[in-house]
Amino acid sequence: MSHETVYAIASGKGGVGKTTTTVNLGTALAEAGERVAIVDADLGMANLAGFVSLSPDSTTLHDVLSGGASIDDATYRITENIVAVPSGTSLDEYADTSPEGLSDVVAELREEFDYVFLDVGAGVSHETVLPLGLADAVLLVSTPEPAAIHDSKKTLELTERAGGEVAGLVLTRTRPESDVSYDEIAARLETPLLGTIPEDPSARESVYAGTPLVVYRPDGPAATAYKRLAADLAGIEIPTTATEPSVESDGDQSPGGIDQSDDDIGPDTDTVDSSASSTTDDDESGGREAAHDDVSSAITEAESDT
Ligand code: ADP
Ligand code: MG
Repeated sequence: MSHETVYAIASGKGGVGKTTTTVNLGTALAEAGERVAIVDADLGMANLAGFVSLSPDSTTLHDVLSGGASIDDATYRITENIVAVPSGTSLDEYADTSPEGLSDVVAELREEFDYVFLDVGAGVSHETVLPLGLADAVLLVSTPEPAAIHDSKKTLELTERAGGEVAGLVLTRTRPESDVSYDEIAARLETPLLGTIPEDPSARESVYAGTPLVVYRPDGPAATAYKRLAADLAGIEIPTTATEPSVESDGDQSPGGIDQSDDDIGPDTDTVDSSASSTTDDDESGGREAAHDDVSSAITEAESDT
């Protein structure tokens, strides 16, 4: 196979758009006909669960890593070509987990899927570093903020130490009026700028809707940027209809290529049960009904503390 199969989506700082990037790159490629697995490798702060209908006793990656389940048991089909492997959300489950088994999980998924995206936790803990070395390529995700860029440097170094390789930088939440040069940021990190994802309120709205952004608002600026990035990574064409200029696109918007008809994804989005999101917010993880936004900012705060 010519392309890289296993990507780790990593960042130094939390709350910069890793989960958004994982879900939307995965969905864009699945819509284009690739078989995709997205894995919640953020073992301490499970994020992907909101996209899958999970009951509290559903099998998760935690059960696989603690030896109690097979990877198939923890694999949930989201739509036609994409499955998710969620992590458990309780701290008890987390304590039982040993990240070492992730290597076997990745090896198994690699056989079965065209692309595997590992949504990696922020920070510098063991379970963060391990996936960086298991992936064929690491996508470094950051906002343009100096603090986030600074922390990206650490992730670059950690990737080297883990024996992994950084493919490049994905800058999220970029703004057209910004006077910061995104190319310069990447140059300072000595890594290629793979893409820029503009600030887009639909990103947040899509989380509430429990639907990937590229499905929720396929023609919006962020969804368009994700589709272009996915096409670049895979070396395929994914049509976009957006009028917004994309900083990183090669500009090849020629029609044809992949047939991305709505039929591929439309009916299946119904299987994404947005009500499931709330089940991940209750019981062990905090004992209250939290809005998605609260959860997001809690995650962001918790991760920023590390
Ligand atoms: P991480 O996984 O790195 O912690 P998330 O993907 O959960 O980050 O994103 C953190 C927050 O930022 C979420 O509320 C998400 O909806 C929002 N977000 C992500 N990308 C964008 C974007 N391009 N524009 C606006 N908001 C975004
Ligand atoms: Mg996340």
